[in-house]
Amino acid sequence: MEVMDDRLISPVAEAEDYDNEFTLRPKTLEDYVGQEKIKGNLRVYLQAAKQRGEPLDHLLLYGPPGLGKTTLACIVAHEMGVQIRITSGPAIEKPGDLAALLTNLQEGDILFIDEIHRLSRQVEEVLYPALEDYALDIMIGKGPSAQSIRINLPRFTLIGATTRAGQMTSPLRDRFGVLLKLELYSPEELGRIVRRSAGLLGVGCEEEGAQELAKCSRGTPRVANRLLKRVRDFAEVCGDGIITKETADLALRRMEIDELGLDTLDRSVLRAIIELYGGGPVGLDTLAAALGEEAVTLEDVCEPYLMQMGFLTRTPRGRCVTNAAYTQLGMTPPARNGGAEVQQQRFEDLS
Ligand code: ADP
Repeated sequence: MEVMDDRLISPVAEAEDYDNEFTLRPKTLEDYVGQEKIKGNLRVYLQAAKQRGEPLDHLLLYGPPGLGKTTLACIVAHEMGVQIRITSGPAIEKPGDLAALLTNLQEGDILFIDEIHRLSRQVEEVLYPALEDYALDIMIGKGPSAQSIRINLPRFTLIGATTRAGQMTSPLRDRFGVLLKLELYSPEELGRIVRRSAGLLGVGCEEEGAQELAKCSRGTPRVANRLLKRVRDFAEVCGDGIITKETADLALRRMEIDELGLDTLDRSVLRAIIELYGGGPVGLDTLAAALGEEAVTLEDVCEPYLMQMGFLTRTPRGRCVTNAAYTQLGMTPPARNGGAEVQQQRFEDLS
């Protein structure tokens, strides 16, 4: 289920991102751009927990990759003045791995588990009493003489992050006191992120250049930062080192990213639905097989942005393109299509 993607505008983190993310990650809620609703609520929860002298309630962050879930978890630790331990669902292979992590926490610490939907059932079982009672139940011995002993844990906060809240088991989901859904960012917010990152990297970036990058960043800060670094290369080699609208446009064209941030894979998705399946509906697995891609890549990486841009809809019978997708690809929408939105509406009317 690993999302593998080597596209420039993939929101999934790659090696270079990790080097830079340390420098570019905002450290406080003040610096964290956008997500105003989440920040507003978090401020209240943080202050209330601090006033009571208690750890924050367990927190689940969900939304597509690259939107700032890890960043937010680090900010919460910073604001609470506690330590954070970062791990991920697939890294915790055995119940013993989780027990070791939990017993090493200090009072008030934060345990951050990325991709929490990928925890195994056995590991989840260990997590339940830890979340509810700050306790660990350990079996000693085997067979009829086996005994369960309970170890008390320090009071800690679990912050879980997932791209797929729907794939989590409900007992696990229900144990989080706060659920926060991150939304894709607006071009204006991404423009602010690009200018902030350019400042931290010491790159000159004009307002219009930042806006150009923001428009192509698929609503995702990680993509914005990555584009910034590539455009900086073009600006340094082909221009005077300053990111202007012209250098941004040139770089984006050379990277085959169109003015709305769609790349070749996005366009192939839309083209395949139109040319092979008459505009849809088509099932995700069928579409992925036709494109030779992993279904999970299409679902996590391409679809959220294509849907936000109004090019794709998910209906109970499969994926459909909208009239806007035909226009974007320079094609004429067929009269019978009538817009996938209308088809979906009809379907909803019937159900
Ligand atoms: P996720 O955990 O959701 O995949 P990250 O927290 O790793 O995403 O964020 C990816 C990068 O995007 C970080 O390096 C950070 O610099 C940047 N970023 C994310 N959210 C914001 C934000 N709200 N403001 C500024 N930069 C952000």
